[in-house]
Amino acid sequence: MATKRDFYEVLGVSKSATAEEIKKAYKKLALKHHPDRNRGDDEAIERFKEAAEAYEVLSDPDKRGRYDRFGHDGLRGAAGRGGGGAGFHDLNDIFESFGDIFGDMFGGGRRGGGGGARTSRGADIQASVTIDLVAAATGCEETIRISRKKTCNHCNGSGAEPGTTPEVCDYCGGAGQVVQAQGFFRIQTTCPACRGQGKVIRHKCNTCYGSGREDESIELTVKIPAGMDNGMQLCLRGEGEVGLQGGPRGDLYVDVKVKDHAIFQREGNHLFCRVPISYSQAVLGTTVEIPLIQGKDRLEIPPGTQPGEVIRLRGKGLPDARNGHVGDLHVEVQVVVPRKVSDEHDALLRKLAKHEEAEVHPHRKSWLDKLTDFFKSEPEN
Ligand SMILES: [Zn+2]
Ligand SMILES: [Zn+2]
Repeated sequence: MATKRDFYEVLGVSKSATAEEIKKAYKKLALKHHPDRNRGDDEAIERFKEAAEAYEVLSDPDKRGRYDRFGHDGLRGAAGRGGGGAGFHDLNDIFESFGDIFGDMFGGGRRGGGGGARTSRGADIQASVTIDLVAAATGCEETIRISRKKTCNHCNGSGAEPGTTPEVCDYCGGAGQVVQAQGFFRIQTTCPACRGQGKVIRHKCNTCYGSGREDESIELTVKIPAGMDNGMQLCLRGEGEVGLQGGPRGDLYVDVKVKDHAIFQREGNHLFCRVPISYSQAVLGTTVEIPLIQGKDRLEIPPGTQPGEVIRLRGKGLPDARNGHVGDLHVEVQVVVPRKVSDEHDALLRKLAKHEEAEVHPHRKSWLDKLTDFFKSEPEN
């Protein structure tokens, strides 16, 4: 830092350059020497830092005025971070200070983990919604009620009472980080005075006491795509809690539960149901009406269908939530044995049994007949 280059020279602008020209010149240099484009090139990183330092001074009318009058000496101590004028401790400082400029060059928000002053993202929140199987098949919109933190109305999220503004933390000079020297090591830690925020609120907001947030309970309409199943989760980005002092919102995770259906069982995309037919229908074949998840259909049951046989109807199941592939409906044929038959039915079956040379029980009195007989035989007193 012995001989500092002239800031106008660094940015390649004249002493009478406008703020816009300075910004443009800085952007050009920052882009050229950006560490992402010059990996491992220390020279480029030095140029990048140098340009940021020059821009920090020349973009600030107050600092620029002092620099114009007194040169580098005019800035000594001004930034509250000790020696050599403005100066940045590390690259993160630069990204934090001029992040909005890099934003439109590199997609913004690239620096997450490095530290430095920043607002913290709000917490994710969890909710659940229960839908029926038809809604799961077709997709639907459900309204859910959630409680979360929103931006404080009174202070607009700053945490400072209106009319006042958060002040730059004088412990860390607004960096949010402090460097501690321990022997040979220099350790960068989150500033204990401002907890990394880089600013402190002297006059806390009367409504939120400085958090910048207040509670809200709102109804939210959630679009549920077709094919959702138990255990699946929807993520609504940016619908979680707002962060402290204007930090961005977290996400909302919605657990989806699907109610059991009276007729259909579900396994993934496939549906299963049973259709009861009689012995004669199974032998001779028939067409029966079966329910679908939406509407109904006619199912052809061929002659000689066995009990428990499964007929598959392709594409009559549920869509896959990920790829839209529709599963099948599996219909299990149930041959129902009547518990009671009419006299005529009984006579026909006996005829059939005789034809099949099958041995059957002789005709028995019905249970009701036997009951009547029982009361008749009861001695009266
Ligand atoms: Zn507030
Ligand atoms: Zn601090």
